[in-house]
Amino acid sequence: MSTANPSSINQRRTFAIISHPDAGKTTLTEKLLLFGGAIHLAGEVRARGQNRRAKSDWMKIEQQRGISVTSSVMTFERNGITFNLLDTPGHEDFSEDTYRTLTAVDSAVMVIDAAKGIEAQTRKLFEVCRLRDVPIITFINKVDREGRDPFALIDEIADMLALDVAPLNWPVGQGGQFRGLWDLRKSRFTAPDGSDSRSAGATTQMSGLDDPRLADYVPADELAHLQEQAELALGGYSEFDPELYRAGQLTPVLFGSALKDFGVEALIDALAEYAPAPRPQPALPEAVSPDAPLVSGFIFKVQANMNPQHRDRIAFMRIASGKFRRGMKLRQVATGKVIAINSPIFFFAQDREIADEAFPGDIIGIPNHGVLRVGDSLVEGPNDITFTGIPNFAPEILRRVKLGDPTKSKQLRTALTDMAEEGVTQLFRPMIGSQWIVGVVGQLQLEVLISRLGAEYNVAAGFEPSPFDTARWISAEDPAALKTFIDTNRGAIAEDRDGAPVFLARDQWELNYTEQREKAVKFTATRERA
Ligand code: GDP
Repeated sequence: MSTANPSSINQRRTFAIISHPDAGKTTLTEKLLLFGGAIHLAGEVRARGQNRRAKSDWMKIEQQRGISVTSSVMTFERNGITFNLLDTPGHEDFSEDTYRTLTAVDSAVMVIDAAKGIEAQTRKLFEVCRLRDVPIITFINKVDREGRDPFALIDEIADMLALDVAPLNWPVGQGGQFRGLWDLRKSRFTAPDGSDSRSAGATTQMSGLDDPRLADYVPADELAHLQEQAELALGGYSEFDPELYRAGQLTPVLFGSALKDFGVEALIDALAEYAPAPRPQPALPEAVSPDAPLVSGFIFKVQANMNPQHRDRIAFMRIASGKFRRGMKLRQVATGKVIAINSPIFFFAQDREIADEAFPGDIIGIPNHGVLRVGDSLVEGPNDITFTGIPNFAPEILRRVKLGDPTKSKQLRTALTDMAEEGVTQLFRPMIGSQWIVGVVGQLQLEVLISRLGAEYNVAAGFEPSPFDTARWISAEDPAALKTFIDTNRGAIAEDRDGAPVFLARDQWELNYTEQREKAVKFTATRERA
């Protein structure tokens, strides 16, 4: 039996950055990695000593649209703390993937553009965090540019998100008049470095806002204004209470500029000081504490073809408990299959020696040939544990796949199955007819699918409309009732990739009508892997 070292657990921070596209997530991620002496990016790990992953069209889509469509894991260390940063795709079509990634973090950083405030996607992602009480640190970015009034921005967060807010620092001036950042609680001032780029320079400890040295950085009239603002900022909002933050009820707010390095170090320090260490993970029969001695974890993401030479997949597992060691055997609870994890990919250590083990809060990549699925629970020992809350979502767009070259049908099936395993798309096999139906949550997923079929499988394909518009998983307490429903609706029944029955409806009206008529059958818009 292995015993995790609790101090190692407390020294981990597993978090994600949520934001609307363009707010500065990529820039902030890079700066966090730089400050932390980045170790390596997940996508590059496999490529070590091998050919780098060929650039696929799918990556071109990312570049053209300036959006990131894949998630990866990045790890950095600072002052003895290991930070696991899980990247989330920013585009709304990928909210499903993002949702699942957010099931694997203990906290989040919400990046807001100081000129724009809360935008649509920020809000959506925030709601996902709220569902799981994920604590959030807010980073109001781009203070080096002309932005909105700091009070207005903070009030908007409080009002729109119904959260208590506690500013930790304050921007002195804006745009061309930006003088630096004042740390409201620690009375420190960070000024530009004096170079043309006006990046962050030294931070000076002051005795208070009346410290005469502040005059070196801030003209007298602006200083009086800062004193007023600081008083209002401290007095007008909640006091910062780390417990309320960790309960998801209050967000500390940091102003900064990812581009110019302002506030980035303060953000890392805040994560280290206040963000929760790995939390218990919701599961059946009961939540799993990170201190539990046996290893357990769940798969929140699967990525195929990270190396085009090998048709393998990497399943990303969040370790929930125990101390994982290379070569361990873990049982896949859904199937009972025991899997020896001989070549896990560690994202967190420079040093191969240390990389032989991982602790709760860490993510490991498990190469496999399609056995592991999103939502899978893996355990050491005899007890079944099923992690909960990692759903598939009912697709909002259904399409039949049309093959350019009919001799490629076998490759098409492999490719569609791979993509379904990654959770990029869902795949339904109708009971009647031979054409597979692909389901996605957003339009962009279809474009990614077509590009990847071409780039990675050499299959030219397109879509044709499917007669169906929406899908629901079906179940019933009485197996006979389910069978009767399936038998009488064979033309509208399909199986998903796991063999679970799905009802395909022509439109919302038909779905509502059927739901009302068939009281014995349960129609669900999400399905968790049992
Ligand atoms: P993402 O879409 O959220 O990942 O945003 P990016 O990090 O790609 O940033 C979007 C744009 O904003 C880029 O042109 C960045 O250079 C710019 N940007 C990011 N952070 C800052 C900042 O602190 N100040 C200024 N002036 N520009 C920034």
